[in-house]
Amino acid sequence: MTEYKNTLEAAQELDRRDGLQMFRKRFYIPEHAGKPSVYLTGNSLGLQPKSVREYLEQELLDWKNLGVEGHLHGKNPWFYYHHFMREALGGVVGAAPEEVVAMNTLTVNLNLLLVSFYRPTKQRYKILLEANAFPSDQYAIEQQVRLHGLQPEEAILEVQPREGGKVFFTEDILQRIEENRDSLALVMLGGVNYLNGQFFNLPEITRAAHQAGAVAGFDLAHAAGNIPLHLHDWNVDFACWCSYKYLNSGPGGVGGIFVHERHGSRPDLPRLAGWWGNEESTRFDMKKGFVPQAGAAGWQQSNAQIFPMAIHRASLEIFQEAGIDNLRGKSELLTGYLEFIIKEYNRFHPHQRLQIITPADTRDRGCQLSLVAEHNGREIFNKLTAAGIVADWREPDVIRMAPVPLYNTFEDVFRVGAALESLS
Ligand SMILES: *Cc1c(COP(=O)(O)O)cnc(C)c1O
Repeated sequence: MTEYKNTLEAAQELDRRDGLQMFRKRFYIPEHAGKPSVYLTGNSLGLQPKSVREYLEQELLDWKNLGVEGHLHGKNPWFYYHHFMREALGGVVGAAPEEVVAMNTLTVNLNLLLVSFYRPTKQRYKILLEANAFPSDQYAIEQQVRLHGLQPEEAILEVQPREGGKVFFTEDILQRIEENRDSLALVMLGGVNYLNGQFFNLPEITRAAHQAGAVAGFDLAHAAGNIPLHLHDWNVDFACWCSYKYLNSGPGGVGGIFVHERHGSRPDLPRLAGWWGNEESTRFDMKKGFVPQAGAAGWQQSNAQIFPMAIHRASLEIFQEAGIDNLRGKSELLTGYLEFIIKEYNRFHPHQRLQIITPADTRDRGCQLSLVAEHNGREIFNKLTAAGIVADWREPDVIRMAPVPLYNTFEDVFRVGAALESLS
């Protein structure tokens, strides 16, 4: 156990002992009033790695000098571009290289995967979600249900957080699965809930879903690059994520999918198709009859978006270098320090408390802490912003803060406490 202290010296000492501190220099930190801001919104838009420019310039150069020849003769031939990052991407989510592919954007991918993995029958047609799921997921699922001629009210089940609390209980999720074991087609949760920051017990939920005869899929927007995942070993059926949050790959950056190898090796699995998902060796034969590539790549639609993918590649290489387990080690300490700082503030300001609604057990959370102010939440948030603390506000009353181990420091976290102190 680290003994935390609420002093600048103690925070700086933790930074000195941080084996990953050199990675901060690899990112651009936005400024506030001429000084680096305390950037705590890497859960919303991760910061820009300095190496991005070089990766982009290479592709601009090949396009400029080679034109169409860049597809096969560029330095990184565009025809194969998704190959160049699948190992790093697999490392981030715990998958074999063939089980992942970078493509499209998150919601598009979710819809593509639902087409393959939500195959309701008369008997089995229900989908289990968490209450307060991210709106895009809710809308996608609602409309997929309608596409099958079903009504959302009959097909969608929601697990609620326990009354009075904001946290979901694994046993409640398992119980809902069990209660619906004859009619459940799919369990589809956010890996980390975007609002309360809770990390779900993916292996147990997957096991329970399978025992009930259902499929388990996850939206990992807030989990990928945040918490080490073992999608293959956990036997997860499918997953998707975006790359612009913890994966630092730029606004609107390219998303990614995971399809477990036991599904990836089934060419008969129904799917929406395009030429880029066709077997690579015969793609340019331009013949009738779709033959999907084995693995996640068989869900590709269009030729790769090279520029967003070049950014993604630059960023994933930093993850490979730092190591997702090392990042997690620092992340637990860093978020633990933020928890300590918030509790210190609460101790001295009982009338302006910031209630932490993220689970206290580090196994049940990632970087993010979600705070609810008992009074004047919006005002506290605005004052933090004015002090150079970049957090975010979710209606009606949640302040989210996510110290990210690649570029945030313990001093950043100390400065949150100092800013809270100065405004109270
Ligand atoms: C951020 C986020 C999205 C965003 O979807 P896009 O298609 O990338 O715009 C979707 N789902 C969850 C859970 C998210 O956190």
